[in-house]
Amino acid sequence: MSNSAGVHASHCCKWHGCKYGDKDCPVVSGEVEQLYICEYCGEELREEEYFRSVVTRLDEIKAFKEKLKKQCV
Ligand SMILES: [Zn+2]
Ligand SMILES: [Zn+2]
Repeated sequence: MSNSAGVHASHCCKWHGCKYGDKDCPVVSGEVEQLYICEYCGEELREEEYFRSVVTRLDEIKAFKEKLKKQCV
């Protein structure tokens, strides 16, 4: 992971887009997993329980993506 990818991973959101307006954002393209729920996600997910369930699901999605990757290659 390059430094800039790390910056995107820390600040951008797959759902709400790149914080820097970068068309080639690695988070948006799915190349890099976002590290945090973004501020917009945070506004939508004010209910902590719902927030937790989404975070849990992110792990599921990640595992699912890994599985897909293995099947495709
Ligand atoms: Zn970005
Ligand atoms: Zn978001």
